[in-house]
Amino acid sequence: MTKEVNLTQQLKHYFGFDKFKGDQEAIINNLLDGNDTFVLMPTGGGKSLCYQLPSLIMEGTAIVISPLIALMKNQVDVINGMSEESGVAHYLNSSLNKASIQQVMDDVKSGVTKLLYVAPESLNKEENVEFLKSVKISFYAIDEAHCISEWGHDFRPEYRNIRPTIGKIGNAPVIALTATATDKVRTDIKKNLGISDAKEFKSSFNRANLYYEVRPKTQDIDKQIIKFIKQHEGKSGIIYCLSRKKVEELSEVLKTNEIKASPYHAGLDSSTRSQTQDDFLMERIDVIVATIAFGMGIDKPDVRFVIHYDIPKSLEGYYQETGRAGRDGGEGICIAFYAQKDLKKLEKFMEGKPVAEQDIGRQLLQETAAYAESSVCRRKMLLHYFGEEYNKENCHNCDNCLHPKDKIEASKDLLVV
Ligand code: ADP
Ligand code: MG
Repeated sequence: MTKEVNLTQQLKHYFGFDKFKGDQEAIINNLLDGNDTFVLMPTGGGKSLCYQLPSLIMEGTAIVISPLIALMKNQVDVINGMSEESGVAHYLNSSLNKASIQQVMDDVKSGVTKLLYVAPESLNKEENVEFLKSVKISFYAIDEAHCISEWGHDFRPEYRNIRPTIGKIGNAPVIALTATATDKVRTDIKKNLGISDAKEFKSSFNRANLYYEVRPKTQDIDKQIIKFIKQHEGKSGIIYCLSRKKVEELSEVLKTNEIKASPYHAGLDSSTRSQTQDDFLMERIDVIVATIAFGMGIDKPDVRFVIHYDIPKSLEGYYQETGRAGRDGGEGICIAFYAQKDLKKLEKFMEGKPVAEQDIGRQLLQETAAYAESSVCRRKMLLHYFGEEYNKENCHNCDNCLHPKDKIEASKDLLVV
């Protein structure tokens, strides 16, 4: 009991929040008790706090493994902005020069650093392993833990070395966090991190404020998108396309139609990309036309629509990408355009890949096609994909619930392409 009262006080003290969201408190208590912990919580649920708060309370330094440099920098800035002392949070990654690395190491050694963010490739480096061996580690947090699994939407091979490296540095409790809750990914994470006994905290993945719709992809798709954006003037939105070429083309079309839009993909240099990201956050532009390179860790609370110009490669990815809409709980309109011929294109892309990878890719694609072609409640289908039963008859917030159509009409739509 006293511990609970204290935790709420600590929450207020460090973060200024009055109460915990969802399972945060139980998660933190489990970690404080020294147990391995597995957190499945949708995007925007408040996962970061589950390791940030205990790191500030516990003795030693918490190692946070996170896949993106931009994400790390952002979180470190936030934590350091909250505290009077400097160096409470630091990161180690390939962007630092020698002097900065020395500063980080000095702060960690002196004990002021409570949170050390590390990219997986940096963690696995010999010199960092050697250094960390001499550090008192409170726990390891593996953020975006689905990166471990090929069944996830963002597989990163370096994530697979995390466990062996932890073994070299020295054991401490592990907390793994992800917004990816499919059974396959979950099993992979536990197995790979060696945390099969971890207590699991899974919150509902339903995002009641998101409206889901699938439209047949027809010749007038650009017109439909322009019309939609004009009807939502001044609102922020993301349009996902599969290819960089399409991103550039569509962005031009939108600009010609007096829509404030910019392209974003991995082929653009990093200063252009961060400029575009800032423009979007500061609302100098309304629409980002992007490949899936855009989005992880973007915390813009009032994205009002996410449009998929092309059908995504997996339902998992679709859920993550649409999850960037309506993070503040307000309106979030998610529209996906679907054509069967796009599936064929995607299958063709896979042809050069190893057979096992192709099998996984095809299976994921089939699930997406089933979703697009179904006349069942979209929410029910998405949640089912995450092993969650949605029991209501009608969600009142997807095309299939709001405008039920009979099967014949539905299949007719699909012939339009
Ligand atoms: P996730 O990593 O699960 O996507 P974040 O950790 O980025 O989510 O948190 C999402 C938002 O929720 C952030 O803006 C964060 O400040 C806020 N948040 C987290 N915990 C609380 C809380 N207990 N009370 C209020 N806001 C919170
Ligand atoms: Mg997060």
